[in-house]
Amino acid sequence: MAIKVCKFGGTSMADGNVIKSVKNIIDGDMDRRFIIVSAPGKRYSGDIKVTDLLYDSYNALVSGGDFKKAFAAVKARYVSIVKELNLNFDINSVLEETEGRIIKERSEDFTASRGEYLCARIVAGVLNAKFIDAENVIFFDENGALNGEKSYKAVAEAVKDAPRAVFPGFYGVDGRGADGKVKTFSRGGSDISGAIVARAVHASMYENWTDVSGFLACDPRIVDSPRRIKSISYKELRELSYMGANVLHSESIFPVRRANIPINIKNTFRPEDEGTLILPTSRYTPCGNIVTGVAGKKNFTVIFIEKSLMNSEVGFIADVLNVLKKEGVPVEHIPSGIDTMSLVVESECLQGEKLNRVIEEIKQSVEPDVVRVIENIALIATVGHGMSSSVGTSSRLFSAIAAANINVKMIDQGSSEINIIVGVSNNDYEKCIKAIYREFFV
Ligand code: ASP
Repeated sequence: MAIKVCKFGGTSMADGNVIKSVKNIIDGDMDRRFIIVSAPGKRYSGDIKVTDLLYDSYNALVSGGDFKKAFAAVKARYVSIVKELNLNFDINSVLEETEGRIIKERSEDFTASRGEYLCARIVAGVLNAKFIDAENVIFFDENGALNGEKSYKAVAEAVKDAPRAVFPGFYGVDGRGADGKVKTFSRGGSDISGAIVARAVHASMYENWTDVSGFLACDPRIVDSPRRIKSISYKELRELSYMGANVLHSESIFPVRRANIPINIKNTFRPEDEGTLILPTSRYTPCGNIVTGVAGKKNFTVIFIEKSLMNSEVGFIADVLNVLKKEGVPVEHIPSGIDTMSLVVESECLQGEKLNRVIEEIKQSVEPDVVRVIENIALIATVGHGMSSSVGTSSRLFSAIAAANINVKMIDQGSSEINIIVGVSNNDYEKCIKAIYREFFV
């Protein structure tokens, strides 16, 4: 039998009524056997996510604030969810026990993880399914990274006799201490937990239930009602999500990608919508459009370096990169010419004196003819498998940008040929995205 692993995000858990729709979705397909949940999210704009309430509670606890009062807001959310569900579940004693453990552990990660823990306990009750605590099956290693192999094995073992099971997302066990402390992924990390479970049980599909019907070809805050992407390859998504189209946690792709498990982004509030299917490149047939999506990000700094005969100086680029490594600055792109190279870095990584220090060290290390800093740059990635096989795509792209009267300050065509990245001034960011979208989608 095919197995579907379903992860439900915070908005799908926001109140008891939405959880009832989630139950209908799960009951509607026998293959939906393993469920991962986030903590309850916002019920309306201006509402506060449970995870944020928990971080507030932790801060109150360690800074001598009113912890009881802060945690009361968390309790109220769960009490009302259980009431709306009309569930026979003693939420008050579970909350009391949780409160006691938070006070005892005094750990930020542990406190934050309780949003998912409590939610999964409730959903397991609603579905009459086994509750599997992530504390027993998701492991980090001694460097704080996911210990995939150990986790896959433990998850597979835990679900062995369970027709259905519910896991809390977002956390696992730290591998750095002896006594198994709870550690969380970064924010939005329940997507990663879902991917781990999908990989562990050899799922045929990883369904990721959100409050949108899949990915849009571009940011709807910039272009009115952009086209929906029906299917996209992992590779394309990686290029797009990295640039800011973040419906899905970017690290969640890796466990399933390696096992060739497709991801379906679905909408809990419109379950009949097809959503977006994310497929391994080998199984992916381009949708007929040359470009799949356009995404971008503002606030980059470009460090431009010029030196005659740079190309024949062995180790030049390595010496420049060593300066950045020493300063702990990650580099996003390195477009280069025969005597020139540029380092594209997120501006927030060069705050304070760091930028000047990096420039001085580059000057000392490689004695360039020119070093110039260009700030307030936005990067825009135009992504699509169709781009590598169709002649004239870049000419169309740059003509559209020129027609919009936008000056391109940097170009980088990834060697995979599925994306072209342009750097423009922050002020031209929205205009440039609109121009590219109009050229390829309208
Ligand atoms: N609840 C966590 C957060 O708000 C994790 C998640 O929702 O995936 O970041």
